[in-house]
Amino acid sequence: MVHNDYLHTDGRLIRFAHCYLIEPDSGNLSTCTASLWVDKLLGTIARVVMEDTSVVNCFVSESGQDPSIGEEALDAAPTIDLQGQVLAPGLIDIQINGAYGIDFSHWPGEEEDYVSKVETVSTRLAETGVTAYLPTVISQTPDMYEQIIPALHNHAVDSLTTGAAVIGYHLEGPFLAPSKIGCHPAENARDASEGWRSFVGTYGQTIIEPAEEFKLAKIITLAPEVLGIMDCIPRLVEEGYTVSIGHSGANTQQAAQAVTSGASLITHLFNAMPAFHHREPGIIGLLGAAPGCHENGDGKHPSQTLQSALPTPVASQVLGKIERLGGVESPLPSMETKPSESNNQNSRPFQRPFWSCIADGLHVHPFAVNLAYRTHPEGCVLVTDAVSWMDPNLPDGVYPWRSQDHTVTKKGDSITLTDTDTLAGAAVPLDKCVRNLAKFCGIPLSKAIHCASRNPAKCLGGSVVKSKGALKVGFDADLTVWDKETGELLSAWRAGRQVFGKLELRNPT
Ligand SMILES: [Zn+2]
Repeated sequence: MVHNDYLHTDGRLIRFAHCYLIEPDSGNLSTCTASLWVDKLLGTIARVVMEDTSVVNCFVSESGQDPSIGEEALDAAPTIDLQGQVLAPGLIDIQINGAYGIDFSHWPGEEEDYVSKVETVSTRLAETGVTAYLPTVISQTPDMYEQIIPALHNHAVDSLTTGAAVIGYHLEGPFLAPSKIGCHPAENARDASEGWRSFVGTYGQTIIEPAEEFKLAKIITLAPEVLGIMDCIPRLVEEGYTVSIGHSGANTQQAAQAVTSGASLITHLFNAMPAFHHREPGIIGLLGAAPGCHENGDGKHPSQTLQSALPTPVASQVLGKIERLGGVESPLPSMETKPSESNNQNSRPFQRPFWSCIADGLHVHPFAVNLAYRTHPEGCVLVTDAVSWMDPNLPDGVYPWRSQDHTVTKKGDSITLTDTDTLAGAAVPLDKCVRNLAKFCGIPLSKAIHCASRNPAKCLGGSVVKSKGALKVGFDADLTVWDKETGELLSAWRAGRQVFGKLELRNPT
């Protein structure tokens, strides 16, 4: 791409000077301060220069710095002197059900109204450091998906530049285990007894598009042990979905099979899944698997090992017997089934999945958060899982609930059904989850920010991992500025424009 005349395009370049940067691969803070230039026209990071030239510049991709940006243009760029504060990638929230009084699972009747509500959330989320997110829709009926999915699909393609970007959507349900349905409407839970047709019949045609046309990030949370679902995971991956295990009662073998079938994420680890047991560690136990080696210890899937050794009908019988004798009790409701006994042609090497975490200090005990982080830090993805009451400025009080018979009480960070201890959702903004993770795990702020920027981008893959979540030349200029001492969020930028905060540009003297 030819950059014509940077110097004479007014305000095209902006410089952030004297800032510590978060390293793209490690999540460590740079050992010296740096200057980072943004190209407002392209909305990307244009140049990074370490202020101590003896320090390796790990912010430049293999193709190197763009030589068409001359020194004169760099020197003339209006500058924000960050005086030793932290410059980080913008945060990416891959699970947010709503905020600021808006619920993404509620259809107001017209697409225009729905999109306008989404835009309200996008604009305001910037104050929490979020510059990209996936609106999350909980278990709905097919006629609702028919409205909501195309609306999100269309909006994600051309979303606003005045706030956080909608970069896709997250469908949490309805292919969930009834026993782990949580606060989703239980009557909407479904199985996939008709295989792939069940998915198309539920979500509609929008979910089927040629893979190469996908510019959207899409997550589907499902329970792999529910009838017919395991066999559909490879197809979902092919269709561009990040498949996530969640609201599931899967045992260890089922969870491992979901991963070798293509699942690469666990939705809100610890919540809506069986508790960890040392003999049957289940979904949570996936974090403890050695890379390439799981459950039966030889790096092969258990059913794969047996099936390759026995004729198929015999293998099925043997597997069934092992299931019954294994002492592993799966309290499966009638619509759930045993793990797939089909010969899975799509089985892939076992890789530990990413795991999302609600680090609000309420949904998961800080000790458990630290335990998981210490086990698999590179898989940690912070999410808010926020509901419509998420608003840093919302005062404590009693508010209406989805059903008219109840109200919820907001007190500090907690939202409970009034007069009970039952959590009615999460309401802690992502920048606070970042500070919490740093505190719970005793890690530097930069490492915690990494879990809400680079790790989610990696988890989404596709075009997202190549353009977001890292301070790399050529990446989107989605940025956040943090106080190095207190961890307070000072400013947020989307595509090179300030969308939260009041940092001022000064012309170089
Ligand atoms: Zn959930």
